[in-house]
Amino acid sequence: MDFEDENNQAIKKCKALLKKATLGSELVFIKSNYEFVSRIILNLEMQAMSLNKSVGLKEEFETGIKKVNGIEKLIVPMQENDSEVIFYVTQEDLFDVLYDIHLAIGHGGRDRMIKELNKKYKNITQKHIKSFLNICEGCQQTVNFTTFK
Ligand SMILES: [Zn+2]
Repeated sequence: MDFEDENNQAIKKCKALLKKATLGSELVFIKSNYEFVSRIILNLEMQAMSLNKSVGLKEEFETGIKKVNGIEKLIVPMQENDSEVIFYVTQEDLFDVLYDIHLAIGHGGRDRMIKELNKKYKNITQKHIKSFLNICEGCQQTVNFTTFK
């Protein structure tokens, strides 16, 4: 396999991962996959820049890179009027993200969580939120408290 083939293979894999990431009932973005996709996108962006042309990354991948505190993050490409950046989340960070938002809205339920999460993250689905809510001790206690009142 020459370099060109290898490159094409990598791009194909990258596309497949991104497609799966946004369809998902499961998170395909374990950290290594996420880093793989970031690397490919970054390479393509740099290639495009050095050739001084757009390779249609936005259209082709619907994904871009944004540096946050020196770390490259996968984002949804921004339109002119967008004010909020929408990120992809990794499996490793999912729990923290769900937990923080859930507490920030005072143990808010599924609908409020979806509303908040959609503003910031591309690849979190109702299923993730549902299974998270099933394990929140704070919520379980509230339910019990109300039940036995
Ligand atoms: Zn809760």
